[in-house]
Amino acid sequence: GKPVCECNTCFTGPDCSQPVIDCAADADSGDPLYLEPFWMQHAGSSAVVVAGWHRMAYEFPDDSVLSQELLDHIRKLHAIAKNAVTEGRYILFGGGSTLLLNAAVFALSPDNSSSPAKVVADAPYYPYYRSQTEFFQNAKYEFLGDASLAKNMSEDTNFIEFVTSPNNPDGHLKEAVLQGPYVKTIYDRAYYWPLYTAIPAPADEDVMLFTISKLTGHAGSRFGWGIIKDKNVYDRMVQYVDMSQMSISTDTQLRALKLLKAITKDDASGKEFFEFGYNIMRDRWDSVNKIISMSKRFSSQEISPQYCTYFKRVIEPSPAYVWLKCEREEDSNCNDVLRAAKIIARPGTRFDVEDRFARLTSLKGQDDFDMLLYRLKQLVLTTSSEE
Ligand code: PMP
Repeated sequence: GKPVCECNTCFTGPDCSQPVIDCAADADSGDPLYLEPFWMQHAGSSAVVVAGWHRMAYEFPDDSVLSQELLDHIRKLHAIAKNAVTEGRYILFGGGSTLLLNAAVFALSPDNSSSPAKVVADAPYYPYYRSQTEFFQNAKYEFLGDASLAKNMSEDTNFIEFVTSPNNPDGHLKEAVLQGPYVKTIYDRAYYWPLYTAIPAPADEDVMLFTISKLTGHAGSRFGWGIIKDKNVYDRMVQYVDMSQMSISTDTQLRALKLLKAITKDDASGKEFFEFGYNIMRDRWDSVNKIISMSKRFSSQEISPQYCTYFKRVIEPSPAYVWLKCEREEDSNCNDVLRAAKIIARPGTRFDVEDRFARLTSLKGQDDFDMLLYRLKQLVLTTSSEE
């Protein structure tokens, strides 16, 4: 007969619940499509229509009405989410926070040093820090690697440390490893929203980076911002953005503004949005762990429930990724174990640790996540029958 629903290509059957035998679970990329249903429910308030003649000229943040309104909304949203101090801070925009990562490294590199500043991060860390810094490195900065390597260097070495908090891949709220007069720190706060973590206190660091990619889920729009304490650092970052892309697309800014406004349009506290996303992330974390705990072969990172000043209660963990560990001696390549079970993960070596670890994303759409659960369950069930 007629199918009741139109199934995704990887599921079949009258209620689209039977997986297609050959389909792999692609849990590699960090696309935050889990938020798509929220934007479907708010299609009207989040839509942007731009006539062909509209907003054609270059616009620069200082005298652009659009940029100023967007700035106001960014400050407002941080105040609502209680996740960052913005009073008395400078805020700049970038085409994705990716551009701002290197802008910050550039801005924090000393001008008058005889040797390049060493850029480090505490492993496991987000792969772009290495690949981007190595690609752009010059006489002023170079990538060193894991922060533990700093021990072997002289005390007056200039360091720039990337701190990702919550961390990609393991979701932990991290602090800087290095301290001292020669250390500068870049706090990558991409995931510091009540969607992915409890918010213990507003972040108040010298250099903080945010992005709509992990907030609203619009990774393709390429919009991020930096919150900067020091005017000199801010000016150098602005110079970097100016030299790279002159100014930020007005179309992107318009879209970002519409999305941020939509978050607080029907509900000034943003609760509807943050609860929607948080509930999905928490439930996914819960269902993956129920499966993993059926076998001793695998484990995932431990995150404790914590008091969240946004939700005003202790909340269960809701990390964006599962940081899986293969526990058996012979499973030193966890990625291979997963691949044999038709699960595509991101291997540990990409994060500068052993391949005994692998990252699985919880951020994708429901079909992709269902396939991941199905494949994981199959793997764990065949494993536990051997145990
Ligand atoms: N920092 C971290 C820790 C990330 O995970 C990502 C996206 N995967 C980014 C930065 C880049 O974000 P954007 O899309 O704004 O360039």
